[in-house]
This record gives sequence, structure tokens and C-alpha cells, in this order.
Amino acid sequence: MLEIKNLKKTYGKKHVLNGITFKTDQQVIGILGPNGAGKTTLLKIIAGLIKSTDGELVYENRFGAKIMSEKIKIGYLPQSFGLIKSDTLYEHMEYFACMKGMDKKEWTKSIHDILEMVHLEEMKDVKCGKLSGGMVRRVGIAQALLGNPDIVLLDEPTTGLDPEERIRFQNLIHHFGKTCIILVSTHILDDAAKICDELLIIDQGNVLYYGTAAELVVLAKKHVKLDAQIEDGYMYLRKKCRN
Ligand code: ADP
Repeated sequence: MLEIKNLKKTYGKKHVLNGITFKTDQQVIGILGPNGAGKTTLLKIIAGLIKSTDGELVYENRFGAKIMSEKIKIGYLPQSFGLIKSDTLYEHMEYFACMKGMDKKEWTKSIHDILEMVHLEEMKDVKCGKLSGGMVRRVGIAQALLGNPDIVLLDEPTTGLDPEERIRFQNLIHHFGKTCIILVSTHILDDAAKICDELLIIDQGNVLYYGTAAELVVLAKKHVKLDAQIEDGYMYLRKKCRN
């Protein structure tokens, strides 16, 4: 169970998050919103990279034990990240495994398994500088998922993936969603509809909607004439908020 209570972030006089609150025991939560809504800021606060101005994060593992925020194992895929070009992919993954506190015996199998899942096992001896943009994105997903994290934070993970890789990614998230909570920020509503158990829609640091995609579609049906889709629900909420 993950509970975010009244999370606020200000930079000087600028209010970036205005009290984000939600509680979930679902596996995969999609974070949607326009550019500048506060999605990345929210993920960075949960990752512990920046401090919130106010608010609290509570995490309970699946046995109901509360974990202190600094002890939560978090996997994080930022929007952009660097790789050491002269390292092989395997060396890069070893570096991350080491940073995550895994021991060599544990990481040898874990790295093999995760690289297979993101379809990069054959590239393990290739230098990182030789990987394509889509491959680098998949390395990011692999490093976030490595080491059995409690919470996985993925900031626009499918940007730059081709359709086949996106389907593989969706399956991967279904698989990992069984053992951890995954928060995914995305602009791709199709990904959100397919992989997320719940959606958190934010705009200008405020929660516009928190619930399932199915409930969002029902909400949209009351306001649009066509057969409502998740896009209609999203656009309806955006318009309502701006008026
Ligand atoms: P999103 O990920 O939804 O596009 P962000 O979380 O990146 O949104 O940004 C939300 C708002 O916070 C934006 O208006 C952005 O300019 C502002 N912001 C982010 N980081 C800083 C910072 N370090 N200093 C001042 N403003 C910032």
C-alpha cells in the first residue's frame, strides 16, 4: 500500500504541487497530465531526489509492515540519463546492481533475467555508446526494475520505443506489477489504458482525477456524445479545469 498525503512543492513563490493526495494498493498507476503539470516533480519527490515542501509518504509492504521512507527500495527511470559509452551493457548493469546493494552472486542471474526480459541479452557485451536510442530506453527500464524494488517510478518510459517494444514493455509491466507498485508517467493514453490499474490525472499541481480508466470512461460518457474513450475522459477533465 502506498499513500501520498497532501504532498506540496514550491519553488520560491511558484506552487508546483498543491497537495497531492492518493492511496493505492493497486499495482500499476498511470500519471497523466500536460507538460508542466508536476508529474516529474512528483516522481522525483517519491524517489527521494528532491524534498517536498510539505506532505508525507507512507508505504506498507504486502505483509502490512510499514517501511520508513529511506528504507523503501526504489527503482527509478528518469526522462533522460547518461551511460558510460566505453562500458559494456553488462558492466553498466553491474554498476547499477552494485549501487543497489546487490551481491555478485545475486546480480549475475538477475542481470541475465532482466536483460532477457527487455530483449537485450544478446547486446550484453556491446559498448553502451553503440546502443540505439530505443535500446538505451530499454536499458533504463532494466536498471529501474533490477533488484526487486518495492516501488518502481518510470518517467515516460515508452518515449522512443517502437510498437513491438511497447507491447513487450506493457507485458513486462504486467509481470512486475505483481510484486511491486509501479508509477508510470506517460503522454500515451493507449499505454495508460492498457497497463494501468488506476490513473492519477494532474494539472497545474492539482489532482483532477484519481480512479480507474473504466470509471473515467463512464464519467466522459455523461458529457460527450460519441462512444466515450479514455481520451474523451481526459480531455473533458482538462477542459473543465481550464474553464
Ligand atoms: P511535468 O513532468 O508534468 O511536465 P514538471 O514536474 O517537470 O512537470 O514541472 C512542473 C513545474 O515545475 C513546471 O512549471 C516547471 O517549470 C517547474 N519546475 C520544475 N523544476 C523546477 C525548479 N528546479 N525550479 C523552478 N521550477 C521548477
